Amino acid sequence: MPEWPDLHVLRGRLADAFVGKHVTAVRVHDPLVLRATRPLPEALKGRELRDVVHRGRFLTFVFDDNTRLVINPMLSGLFDIVPTETKIRATTAFALTFDGIGSSAPLKDARDLRYRDDTRMGKVYLVEPGASTADLPGFDRQGPEAGTLPWNADEFGRRAKATRRELRNMLMSGDFIAGIGNAYADEILWQAKLHPKRRVTTLDEGEMDRLYAALRETLARAVEIVEHDLPPELGTKIRTHMKIRGKVGDPCARCGTKIVRTRHGLDEMFVCPKCQPPPKGQLR
Ligand SMILES: [Zn+2]
Repeated sequence: MPEWPDLHVLRGRLADAFVGKHVTAVRVHDPLVLRATRPLPEALKGRELRDVVHRGRFLTFVFDDNTRLVINPMLSGLFDIVPTETKIRATTAFALTFDGIGSSAPLKDARDLRYRDDTRMGKVYLVEPGASTADLPGFDRQGPEAGTLPWNADEFGRRAKATRRELRNMLMSGDFIAGIGNAYADEILWQAKLHPKRRVTTLDEGEMDRLYAALRETLARAVEIVEHDLPPELGTKIRTHMKIRGKVGDPCARCGTKIVRTRHGLDEMFVCPKCQPPPKGQLR
């Protein structure tokens, strides 16, 4: 799924491409992903895009009458910036065509903003001018942005311990910090040398400092890599820099032990059994 670094970079790219431009056409191909009180074309055609805002796992497109399109891409939602004449893919949910006024050179012909979703698990909400976001699941109760935490190490540790959760659940909950999913939860915990099922209350000071440092460093480095590797037309997730996620059977980059995959509720998680020793009573 797109996580904090992905959405941070996407926000900038989408804003650069489309803010200040007007929607000249709206095509809806998969209404199943839309949560709207009126047809998307009626709400958006002729509107000027004023801003793109990143909040946790959501991107919000703000239009000139304060209509907002709020998108939670969940597992597999992807954005494309393509010329309008480009063939629509089967999994494209909707396409917004923007006028070309003010196009910068690399995106001169890139006129459509498209959203597609292979699993259809993502959600697209049309929020009418003046309407509240309180009905959007998980939106209003998000903690601070994972990539720009306003806490120093001490405050992080204090707030983390107050959750009393297992580490992986805590990182991914959204209400403690916002924007972390399966991939970066695994990466951060590997970097911190902590097992995902350790309870946060069992961490000593050194371990808590490692977790805080790993969170900040992993996300900061990921933003740089994604910014560098994401193509102008978007349409993909950059995952080549992952050290542990998806690497089952590969040697750990730190100690050489084979990486294992195990279950975490409905999710898979990846750990190095040596670097990330399990809590007592847990096999791996
Ligand atoms: Zn290791």
